[in-house]
Amino acid sequence: MQYEGDIYRPPSEARSLIIQATIGCSHNRCTFCSMYRGKKFRIRPVEDILADLREMAKFYPGARRIFLADGDALILPTKNLLAVLSHIRVLFPADTRVAVYASPRSVLLKSRDELRELHAAGLGIAYLGLESGSDEVLRRVCKGMTAKEIISAGLQVKAAGIPLSVTAISGIGGKELWREHAVCSGEAFTEMKPDYIGLLTLMLEKGTPLFAQAAAGIFHPLSPEEVALETLIMLEHMDCEGSVFRSNHASNYVSLRGTLNADRPAMIRALKDALEGKTAYKKEYLRML
Ligand code: SF4
Repeated sequence: MQYEGDIYRPPSEARSLIIQATIGCSHNRCTFCSMYRGKKFRIRPVEDILADLREMAKFYPGARRIFLADGDALILPTKNLLAVLSHIRVLFPADTRVAVYASPRSVLLKSRDELRELHAAGLGIAYLGLESGSDEVLRRVCKGMTAKEIISAGLQVKAAGIPLSVTAISGIGGKELWREHAVCSGEAFTEMKPDYIGLLTLMLEKGTPLFAQAAAGIFHPLSPEEVALETLIMLEHMDCEGSVFRSNHASNYVSLRGTLNADRPAMIRALKDALEGKTAYKKEYLRML
């Protein structure tokens, strides 16, 4: 088996066996994202995916977690995805968790019954990118979806019984829209109440349109202090009882982790400590994606 191009997966899939079900991302237009820019999107033939699974089962028969890459495996026709999941059931232990990145569009293209069928066949978690709850921010970064559509996709996943992990990006509204981004993202999370919430912090990557906009003075990135204040306001607008909140990624200036709503005061305290200079922000050179 040979991987095609760079492979990306969510931080929590670090130990997963990764199989490419698609090459690239079906959207591939978000201005901040460099992940699949060099790849022309295509869905791999199901026979190729099954062949990879058979080959990997010889080397990793005990794999308990499988991540179906690349950017949007849920876009596969349901019958193909079911064939992949049933192969996984046969080749790997029955309780192996299968995970996918799910674009909002790919979720909304499936009926609730299809999503339920996929869950019953072993789809164990879907990672959905909200990026921001602000429609203006989403428009500027060319996400191609409104907040309402992304929220609706998240709720569809949950209604099908599939555990839902949703990510937003601190700082993505820049200096102009940071407060709107904070409030609307907190409210969007409140509507979805995902099982897991991940908050990364924007890193401008060379080769992306957003990097060029920042270099041209059109987009103004936030300072670490502004990111901390934005996160604090986002948390204040989040009512997600039971959601696991993580903002402890390598890109984050202040590391936070807790279960909402119980741990919210402690996380807000940690942000206030940073804002009052009692604790230090992660140094820029230590940050990465
Ligand atoms: S952020 Fe997600 S949807 Fe947007 S281009 Fe990157 S992989 Fe595709």
